[in-house]
This record gives sequence, C-alpha cells and structure tokens, in this order.
Amino acid sequence: MQRSIEGHVALVTGASSGIGAATAKALAAAGARVGLAARRRDKLAAIAQEIRAAGGEATAIGLDVSAKDSVKAGVDSLTRTFGPIDIVVNNAGLMPASDVAALKTDEWHEMVDVNLKGVLHVTAAVLPQMMARSTGHLVNVSSIAGRKVFKGLAVYCATKHAVAALSEGLRMELGAAHGIRVTCIQPGAVETELYERISDPGYRGQMESLKQEMEFLKAADIADAILFAVSAPPNVDMAELFVMPRTQA
Ligand code: NDP
Repeated sequence: MQRSIEGHVALVTGASSGIGAATAKALAAAGARVGLAARRRDKLAAIAQEIRAAGGEATAIGLDVSAKDSVKAGVDSLTRTFGPIDIVVNNAGLMPASDVAALKTDEWHEMVDVNLKGVLHVTAAVLPQMMARSTGHLVNVSSIAGRKVFKGLAVYCATKHAVAALSEGLRMELGAAHGIRVTCIQPGAVETELYERISDPGYRGQMESLKQEMEFLKAADIADAILFAVSAPPNVDMAELFVMPRTQA
C-alpha cells in the first residue's frame, strides 16, 4: 500500500523545465514541501509560484549541480527553509548528442560534470543529514541510455550507465546500514527541452524525425513514476524503474 508523503521535504534538481518541473509539481500536489533547484532562477520562481497558487509549498533555489559549493549552499538553504530533507530527485542533466570524432570535448566534460558529478555533489551534500536521521530517499534519473548505447550518445550513455551503477552501489550500502532508499529511474523518450540543446544539426534532425515516428512520454508520466517510488511503504525500495513509451522499441 502506498503511504503519504505529506509534509516530507523534497529537493528536485533540474526543476526549471521538463521532468524536474513536473516532478516538483507532482510531489507538491501530494503534500511534500519542495525545493526546486536549477540555474534559471526566473523559471524556478515561476514554477514555485504556480505550485503555491495551487495550495502547495515550494521554494526556488538557484544552484549549479556541477559546482560543489553551490550545491552545498542550496541544500543548506532548503534545510533552513523547510527542515531536513527526506527526498532528493537527482534529475538535472543534459544530452548534447554528437559523434566522438567531432571532438566536442567541452560538451563531453559538461555532461560528466552535470549528469554524473552533479549527482555526486548533491548526494554528498544530503547524505550527512539523512544518515543522522536514518531515513531518506534518493531518486536518481538515469535513462534507457543507462541500459544500452546509442550512436552519437557515447559520452551521454557513459554518464547514464555510471548513474545506474552508482545508484545500485548506494542502494546496497545505504539501505540496511542507514535506512536510506535509492531508486534509479530509466525513462525512454520524453518530450522536454532536452533535445533542443543539441548543437549537432544531424542529431538534432534525427531527434525531430523520431518525434514524428512515435509518441514520446510526457514529463508528467515520469513524475507519476517517481511519486509511486517515493510513496512506497518504508520496507520497500523500488530499486529500478524502466519507463518506456509503449511505441518505443
Ligand atoms: P530538460 O532540458 O527539460 O531539463 C534539464 C534540467 O536540468 C533543466 O531544469 C536544467 O535547468 C537542469 N540543469 C542543466 N544543467 C544544470 C546545472 N549545471 N545545474 C543545475 N541544473 C541543471 O530535460 P529533461 O527534463 O528531459 O531532463 C531531465 C533528466 O531526465 C536529465 O537527467 C535527462 O538526462 C533525463 N532523461 C531525459 C529523457 C528524455 O527523453 N527527455 C529520457 C531519459 C532520461 P537550468 O538550465 O535552469 O539549470
């Protein structure tokens, strides 16, 4: 049976658009007090305002997950505002597809810094308080690209495979010893801004054609799955959720 998350404090990274924004709204609608974190403060403020107008509790936290000090300051700020953090959704990420041979090394490093190191920074910032309270739930957003590899996405797939491996390691080390649950969620194609940031015209075009061929998931579909995982009874850890559009092979 699902349990209520009413009053739980949640931090959602990458909450200024797409899956993160939808997840923040879903958690708030379920009664959680939500910190929305990302770099675009204007977007965060607007979504937080939307949540409050609907009767929920939300606060905007401008931070860059790739910067350790920024993450620490954001976590401290949320803890001061709403109290100790119960749920973290490590969702911030980017996917600038390109061939390795194009040597877009700045984009490679950005993916590693945000998609992988970002998860590490947030995890390190929240774990002390979760371990001190022997409770907490980390939800890490990997991808279908954390299960298989696609051309043009070698580095992205490497980061998402790493997030899957990290999640399983965290689950094994933190569950029994510290009462902390870890969920790795692996969505297939979801309609968000993710594809708009692809600088390679070939891969950008491929993504646009894919949208014509199949119906992508909505960000709210992934938010529903995350809400399901965090609402599971305390003895249950939804370790992995692989959520696909019905029409994606
Ligand atoms: P969006 O582009 O809509 O959202 C990405 C979010 O990450 C934005 O809120 C962005 O905010 C934030 N972000 C990027 N860089 C940073 C940073 N340095 N610090 C803080 N926040 C940052 O895409 P999605 O909603 O699709 O992506 C969310 C997650 O879902 C990603 O991890 C993605 O890899 C994963 N995913 C997406 C799929 C899809 O098909 N869309 C499929 C599988 C997984 P800002 O720019 O304001 O900082």
